Amino acid sequence: MLILIINSGSSSLKYQVRRMHPAGSGDPGGDVLAEGTIEQIGEGDVRDHGQALDAMVEKLEDGLGRVEFDAVGHRVVHGGGRFERHQLIDEDVLRAIEDLAPLAPLHNPPNAEGIRAAARKWPGLPQVAVFDTVFHATLPEHAWRYAVPGELQEKYGLRRYGFHGSSFEYVTREAARALGTPLEEFDAVVAHVGNGASATAISGGRSVDTSMGFTPLEGLVMGTRPGDLDPGLLLFLQREGYGADRLQELLNQESGLKALAGSNDMRRIVKAAEEGNGRAQMALAVASYRLAKYIGAYHVACGGAGALVFTAGVGEHSARFRALTVDRLGMLGIRLDPAANTAADDPREACTISAADSAIPVLVVPTDEEQVIAEATAAVVSSLQ
Ligand code: ADP
Repeated sequence: MLILIINSGSSSLKYQVRRMHPAGSGDPGGDVLAEGTIEQIGEGDVRDHGQALDAMVEKLEDGLGRVEFDAVGHRVVHGGGRFERHQLIDEDVLRAIEDLAPLAPLHNPPNAEGIRAAARKWPGLPQVAVFDTVFHATLPEHAWRYAVPGELQEKYGLRRYGFHGSSFEYVTREAARALGTPLEEFDAVVAHVGNGASATAISGGRSVDTSMGFTPLEGLVMGTRPGDLDPGLLLFLQREGYGADRLQELLNQESGLKALAGSNDMRRIVKAAEEGNGRAQMALAVASYRLAKYIGAYHVACGGAGALVFTAGVGEHSARFRALTVDRLGMLGIRLDPAANTAADDPREACTISAADSAIPVLVVPTDEEQVIAEATAAVVSSLQ
């Protein structure tokens, strides 16, 4: 089965082509035949997502010759309360994805545009929506519920949904495998730290709490998002004249590491901090402290973690950020092996970076969201046959 995986953003379209092996072949992930990104959609020759797909096909055919996909798997960030499973897309599902735009204004609209463009280009081809929120459908009520009036919760779906689900699913599975623990017995805290960042408490291989909530704004300090804030701060700004559109910009594009350090590129921040830049040092301290607090809390949420796992751009590459975080966990008995931590820079597979006497292992696991999207797409398509 040949699957095209699409992650469609507002100005870029990431794609990957995978050949999936038959179920039971022992290698469910399949082979990556090609991958790439079409950038600057809307700015240059590529005017919209439809033209981005044309450009993608041109590139693919240069490399692979003529390609005929069996299905397209789309990453969709917000599935709201309606989708507890990945979905074969029809007009009804697509409209529901568009209706969730207010909850993920930067993500769902371009996700939907990618779907519409692919449906126009390949009518009749199965298109599957793989939601970031689905992995967190297992959150218990005490974790998903906000303490707000029930009628508002019901009317607007005000609850914690959680995101980065495909990444957490993949990384959880790989970490359990690397440690030789059956997935159903695996308890852990997983930190996905990229430009967007969230932490998840895993119990028995399932998500039982996660730091992003109703929207991808809650929780950790991110590249350009602040994570947790006192809601009173937003009321205050509103009274000072900040409207919803202005706040959306402030909270999505102007906050987080960018606000603290002047850049959201962790490489630059670490380098500046090492050269003695005070703002960069402060930014690292704020972000790593926030993550350490969540790890402590999620140790409780999962009833005692059996492992701590780092993944995504910063988690996989920045030994400095990992060290600053884990240095705060000494009272839990969690300790790094400094040499192993430094050596784990862009590892190809799961590796352990904790000291031999650490209370629990600390791992770096390179994430592979596309693999989970491809598997989920293949599963939905197979269930049709
Ligand atoms: P996204 O959330 O956009 O998928 P990624 O997971 O790709 O983001 O992570 C992007 C972040 O990873 C950026 O802050 C980038 O600076 C950081 N990063 C990538 N490589 C390195 C590195 N070698 N050292 C430190 N940070 C890195």
